[in-house]
Amino acid sequence: MATKKYVYSFGGGKADGNESMKNLLGGKGANLAEMAGHKNLRLPVPPGFTITTEVCIHYYKNKRTYPKGLKEATEKAMEKIEKLMAKKFGDPHDPLLVSVRSGARKSMPGMMETVLNVGLTEKTIPGLINKSGGNARFVYDAYRRLLMMYSDVVMEKAAGIEPKDEQGIRKQLEKIMSQIKKDKGYKSDTDLNSEDLKILCAAFKVKIKEVLGKEFPDEPEQQLWGGIGAVFASWNGKRAVSYRRIEGIPDEWGTAVTVQTMVFGNMGDDSATGVAFTRNPGNGENNFYGEYLINAQGEDVVAGIRTPAPINEYSKSSQNKELLTLEKAMPKIYKELFDIQNRLEKHYHDMQDIEFTIEKDRLFMLQCRIGKRNGPAAVRMAMDMLKEKLIKKEDTVMRVTPAQLDELLHPIINPKIELTHKPLAKGLPAGPGGASGQIVFSANDAVAWAKQGKKVILVREETNPEDVEGMRAAQAILTARGGMTSHAALVARGWGKCCIVGCNALHVAYEEKELRIEAEVLKEGDWITLNGTKGNVYKGQLPTMDATEENTLLDNFLKICGQIKRLGIRTNADTPEDALKARQFGAEGIGLFRTEHMFYGKGSDEPLFLLRKMIISKTEEERKKALDELFPFVKKDIKDTLAAMDGLPVVIRLLDPPLHEFVPREKEKLEQLARDLNISMEELAKRAEGLHESNPMMGHRGVRLGVTYPEVSTMQIRAVMEAAAELLEEGKKPYPEIMIPVVSDVKELQDQLAIAKKVYAEVLEKYGLKTIKHMFGTMIEIPRAALVAGQLATVAQFFSYGTNDLTQMGFGFSRDDIGGFLPEYIKKGILPEDPFQSIDQTGIGELIKIGIERGRKTRKDLEVGICGEHGGEPRSVEFCHRVGMDYVSCSPFRVPIAKLAAAQAVLRERKK
Ligand code: PEP
Ligand code: MG
Repeated sequence: MATKKYVYSFGGGKADGNESMKNLLGGKGANLAEMAGHKNLRLPVPPGFTITTEVCIHYYKNKRTYPKGLKEATEKAMEKIEKLMAKKFGDPHDPLLVSVRSGARKSMPGMMETVLNVGLTEKTIPGLINKSGGNARFVYDAYRRLLMMYSDVVMEKAAGIEPKDEQGIRKQLEKIMSQIKKDKGYKSDTDLNSEDLKILCAAFKVKIKEVLGKEFPDEPEQQLWGGIGAVFASWNGKRAVSYRRIEGIPDEWGTAVTVQTMVFGNMGDDSATGVAFTRNPGNGENNFYGEYLINAQGEDVVAGIRTPAPINEYSKSSQNKELLTLEKAMPKIYKELFDIQNRLEKHYHDMQDIEFTIEKDRLFMLQCRIGKRNGPAAVRMAMDMLKEKLIKKEDTVMRVTPAQLDELLHPIINPKIELTHKPLAKGLPAGPGGASGQIVFSANDAVAWAKQGKKVILVREETNPEDVEGMRAAQAILTARGGMTSHAALVARGWGKCCIVGCNALHVAYEEKELRIEAEVLKEGDWITLNGTKGNVYKGQLPTMDATEENTLLDNFLKICGQIKRLGIRTNADTPEDALKARQFGAEGIGLFRTEHMFYGKGSDEPLFLLRKMIISKTEEERKKALDELFPFVKKDIKDTLAAMDGLPVVIRLLDPPLHEFVPREKEKLEQLARDLNISMEELAKRAEGLHESNPMMGHRGVRLGVTYPEVSTMQIRAVMEAAAELLEEGKKPYPEIMIPVVSDVKELQDQLAIAKKVYAEVLEKYGLKTIKHMFGTMIEIPRAALVAGQLATVAQFFSYGTNDLTQMGFGFSRDDIGGFLPEYIKKGILPEDPFQSIDQTGIGELIKIGIERGRKTRKDLEVGICGEHGGEPRSVEFCHRVGMDYVSCSPFRVPIAKLAAAQAVLRERKK
């Protein structure tokens, strides 16, 4: 029987694997194979091999051991590299050095480990010095990097040693290095000469033995397997695990390990290393964009230790504009790189994030992957690529995630107010939007403060992957160092978070918990505001606003979504202003107009007073009088809303909340009410007390009000019908849908329908009309309603799912009191997420399906929608599409997101 293939080689214009094998080879391995072996590419990729994710799975299932045959396969793959490079691993005369890197299916930037320069030992050092033309400095620099990385990654982290803060081996070695630099009066690492580095390496080895109790393994084979094991172990390292939780990456995927020939960007001034994007990931412009460092290794660019230079004019920023571009420094190489990036983008039909190294005037491609981008960039690239015929309409829609779209609708600093403030400092605009928060200086503090409901901004010299949870918890991130491709920039961009990096004027004093920008000193807890689109840092809390100005690109993108989606997208709007705004966003109707909202907020004083009068009334007569006074207000509100949505359906829900909610609490208001009703304060208190309920959410509310006080329903339905009649007279096309809330039985609906019919006939007569287009329907928000939906549909012409209440009553979780237990439920994995945010498809979803099925059995053309908060949540929207709803309804700002999610639902369904 043939044994399983665990190792896939690439290099020399050939590759065993290809891009489609991401699950097995990880993103990095699959793309290296594609770049090296695909007939249209065959790029200069240093040869290597990838050990599959299946080995990682085996490793964890079998007490951290490897499958049979792996050793032999690895040896063979190593021989292939040796042949291609005409060098041998461990050869004292001309040693081959390799890197050992991680790579999961989905990129997890910086979350797992890497070991470089593997194969460098006391024995191979002289050979490498000789082959590098006597460059001892370069070789000892490579050796000290290996010592640092290997002791940190393999001997400490992979061994499960958890040192206290600042006590880790890497930190201790860095201290030694700083000391030598200080003693010699050096500023930069590059000032260290070969003798210094040699002494440093010797000191490192002594320290490693002292701290970790073991010698550094000065033997190539041992280094290689140590590196491979450490990468596998890093799959279950703390930060990788927490990143997986945040990104929803399953633990079972595992990582692949890629072993690849080392090429050196630090061999002198004819060598360099860099990171680039085929288009600008910050704004989407179709321009080659990137950074590089002469005489450096890749880790120097990503770690943000030196400020990288721009690769071309386009990539210049205020921070790096003085530095020499690659285009000027190495024009031939730049041209080759430019050509390669063009080919890569054409090949992958998407923006690529590439890593390259130049070794002695020779270009090598180390990595390519689909580049992360922020929301504005995602929309721009998708639309540009469609225009360039690089992708189709369907791809365009799939290229933007709902979360990215959300970024375009995100807060910015109020521009007028921003103009009146002078920035404290400027940095690189790594993540767009505006945010303000209180300063914290550690990731742990960011998490702890955010838990207390505080808004924080995480301020660091630079970030590293250990900070990822704190970065997540913060409103925004500010770092003193690093470029647009530094860790903080990459991670924040992926999340669409406001972020400024490379703010050179910023000095962070961790011990004192303060930051200094020139003479200004800010302490932990002080407020700052960031403009991540411009890179400006402001003192204090500047107001933010929604960035919903004209955006034709976004409009056109949404038009394409509109052509593909099947679901209707309506909005929940309670005022004529909201209705207008939502219409501008592309809402195709109102799915929920909550009548009671006219009693809150602006202009509500008078109607609220009248409503209170009605509530406190004791006799039908008193109540009717109050209702008559209230009527014109209700009618006007409804009429204005119907007019704003002219020609589109408007679902108007009759009064829903328990009346007790509206009884005033302030003495002054109570006195005014007593006076107006001509009753004593005692009497008023008695009446108010009478309205008190122990469980109002399940008490006297919704349709129950209409059943017990028919005159309340009468007034509201009359307001709807008269408003529509008047609009008809004005030549408009109103289309109200009257909706009865909190229904659990068909007889409740029959009771209300009788009222509606009577009022309808009266209004027709009053206005001399033959018909007013309208519908009569119900909400489904009680589990029983879903079960008896077949009966409800005999009366209701439409259903609208109130999934807020349906979730509340389906789970028996009070929607206002989940804070006490839900976080623990999620932490313990009892529930995967908050069912009030995303529909619980297994339970509540079944009720929804049953309701639709039974309802449509009775009434084939039953209109079905959703108006609970879930109507704007992307996964719930997809669910609504799948179960055959006619529309979803959500808040105005979520309309574009729902539209995109609805279009993507169609495309995903087609793919199946
Ligand atoms: C619902 O219950 O889902 C709903 C839309 O109504 P409300 O949130 O007003 O209870
Ligand atoms: Mg409800």
